[in-house]
Amino acid sequence: MSKSHILIIGAGPAGLTAGFEILQKTSSIPVILEASEIIGGISQTAEYKGNKIDIGGHRFFSKSDTVMKFWEQFFPTESGEVSPQKTDLVMLIRQRVSRIFYLRKFFAYPLSLSFQTLQNLGILNSISIFFSFLSAKIFPKSSEKSLEDFFINRFGKRLYKTFFKDYTEKVWGKKCTELSSEWGVQRIKGLSLLKAIWDAFLKFFPSDDQKSLHQKNKETSLIERFLYPKFGPGQFWEHLALQIEQRGGKIYMNEKVTHVINDDHHISAVITTNSKTGKQTRYEGDYLLSSMPLRELFSAFSTVPQETKKLAETLEYRDFFTVGVLLSALSIQQETKIVDHWIYIQEKDVQVGRIQIFNNWSPYLVKDPDKIWIGMEYFANEGDFLWQKSDEDLQKLACEELEKIGFAQRKDVEDTCIIRVPKAYPVYFGKGYESFSSLRSYLDTLQNLFCIGRNGMHRYNNQDHSMLSAIEAVKNIVSGKTEKHNIWQVNAENEYHEKK
Ligand SMILES: Cc1cc2nc3c(=O)[nH]c(=O)nc-3n(C[C@H](O)[C@H](O)[C@H](O)COP(=O)(O)OP(=O)(O)OC[C@H]3O[C@@H](n4cnc5c(N)ncnc54)[C@H](O)[C@@H]3O)c2cc1C
Repeated sequence: MSKSHILIIGAGPAGLTAGFEILQKTSSIPVILEASEIIGGISQTAEYKGNKIDIGGHRFFSKSDTVMKFWEQFFPTESGEVSPQKTDLVMLIRQRVSRIFYLRKFFAYPLSLSFQTLQNLGILNSISIFFSFLSAKIFPKSSEKSLEDFFINRFGKRLYKTFFKDYTEKVWGKKCTELSSEWGVQRIKGLSLLKAIWDAFLKFFPSDDQKSLHQKNKETSLIERFLYPKFGPGQFWEHLALQIEQRGGKIYMNEKVTHVINDDHHISAVITTNSKTGKQTRYEGDYLLSSMPLRELFSAFSTVPQETKKLAETLEYRDFFTVGVLLSALSIQQETKIVDHWIYIQEKDVQVGRIQIFNNWSPYLVKDPDKIWIGMEYFANEGDFLWQKSDEDLQKLACEELEKIGFAQRKDVEDTCIIRVPKAYPVYFGKGYESFSSLRSYLDTLQNLFCIGRNGMHRYNNQDHSMLSAIEAVKNIVSGKTEKHNIWQVNAENEYHEKK
């Protein structure tokens, strides 16, 4: 008797974890359909002339033991016996370093009450930040509707305007007054000025938890140690893909799912279009696990109530691109050694939001150790003015901005490349998001469909959440459970982070 198939859309962390779990826990064959020609989704490692790019900088850390064990079974953590010099399949341990660049000066991140901070801000500014913080504590805004309210209640107006407003607006392309406080609640819940100061104080007395890699009691924005595959995040996901294929799972690349054949309760097949040949193929399976963006999934359904379809069309995303810049020297390095993994660029007069220093993530990402390999990150909306610029213009913009903020001179730029990432962020505003419960209700009626991952659940999931949603979905398949609450619960009440 031939084995049954389980279809999976996407070979990112969610889809690959689902594929592996299916092989471990069921007798079915996972069939992974991937639209692109690269494994790893947003967590891929891109390559340009021997230099590797990590899109966004992917820290591997999780409060979930299941996830930590999952990573460690394939890539043990570097130690006496497991040394990166001797093996490629290894997680490097990294002590996080990141700073904020503002007023052409570096500020510690998380912000600390140091002499350096006060000196950079100036004494009058520092005093007014302190009083504005006190005022926010004594007279907090009673209803926290917008992200601005959220920040002001926790940090005071002055500190919010100094360190949070401009960067957040760069990331989302919207004013903080237009963004929902829910974003803050989910991403940086629990973090406040007092907590950040307390955390800085505790550094002098490291507890067992702080010494461990799990750091379960730590606000995630403040997580200081993380794991990192020797050759970047994609190395892990490429290895997992290999494991899946060796165990009999199927992975088809360049196969974009364009149609999902369903009735009111059930999905029977999907149809893909091959991006190389244009050929359409029909795949059938008992279950469908989807990590494709929800907006596209709804438009792929063969049948769906018109108003639900229309609502799904209003789901919004934020897009992102990285300009890889190879430098012979970093001008700013002469004043202060750049040991950061990434630097937040708070400056208003440039559009770049963050700069990744790939050498510091892993020296193995850089072909020539004498060069500096950085990623300048820009946030945009697909189709907007910035996104529509040609690659050449974007590379020029990046070089100009690098010079403007004094990081590097144009003569030191040896090469550049562009990586565009559409739908990097599912966003938490707009009609589709506000009425998300009705979209979810519809998805829940399709009994053999499980939506997993980041865009698959329209949730700001990190790799570990994406993996956990896949693990939960496979648990449901094994137990025959059609109710999906456990999957939607992943990263729901969360204490999560991403970046600042
Ligand atoms: C800037 C940035 C920084 C980040 N930093 C971190 C970090 O430090 N640590 C961390 O853990 N996470 C981080 N993340 C989050 C991490 O990238 C995601 O959580 C993770 O990649 C999500 O995995 P996924 O499988 O759900 O989705 P994706 O990675 O998006 O993968 C989905 C896959 O589905 C494919 N696909 C889409 N549509 C179709 C279709 N119609 N047919 C077939 N295939 C399709 C895509 O090509 C893709 O390969 C960061 C994200 C960003 C944007």
